[in-house]
Amino acid sequence: MYEGPVQDLIEELGRLPGIGPKSAQRLAFHLLTIEFADAERLANTIVAVKQKVRFCARCFNVSEREECRICRDPRRDPSVICVVEEPRDLMAMERTGEFRGRYHVLGGAISPIDGVGPDDLRIKELMTRIGDENITEVVIATNPNIEGEATASYLARILKAMELRVSRIASGLPVGGDLEYADEVTLGRAFAGRREL
Ligand SMILES: [Zn+2]
Repeated sequence: MYEGPVQDLIEELGRLPGIGPKSAQRLAFHLLTIEFADAERLANTIVAVKQKVRFCARCFNVSEREECRICRDPRRDPSVICVVEEPRDLMAMERTGEFRGRYHVLGGAISPIDGVGPDDLRIKELMTRIGDENITEVVIATNPNIEGEATASYLARILKAMELRVSRIASGLPVGGDLEYADEVTLGRAFAGRREL
């Protein structure tokens, strides 16, 4: 145990995903050595992101306004929705330059082990959008792992009853991986090779 603020910092950093006690300690001691201005900028950036950034009211992407940059863009096709798990997957898809519709961010994937069921995701919101926005096609781009596949099959099942084209991005992505780690070319190909469900 260290004293006061150093221990507080180690504990705060240790709360972050993927940061174990050792990494938290290493980061804390790194932060102790940086310039005051750099520390201040980091602290201010964290506060600013909490004050200014929220979720898009339509697609739940991160946004500085009521609706995100993509939902506000009149050049995007409003009749096609690409469903992703997290905003970072949306960014990965954007980097491919292949998709010209809008998105829907679920906020995770179905995972019984972690206690995440369909009701914990923004699936109800997706169904409302399909009803309200004249959606003709839904592309399911959840991650190519167990949770992502379970989510894709669940969505395929409930969307089947509706009159739309439903497709899943092609396999060929590294199995068990996340979209965000796939390079643009691979993900672009997976999108182009999407198969109808
Ligand atoms: Zn949006």
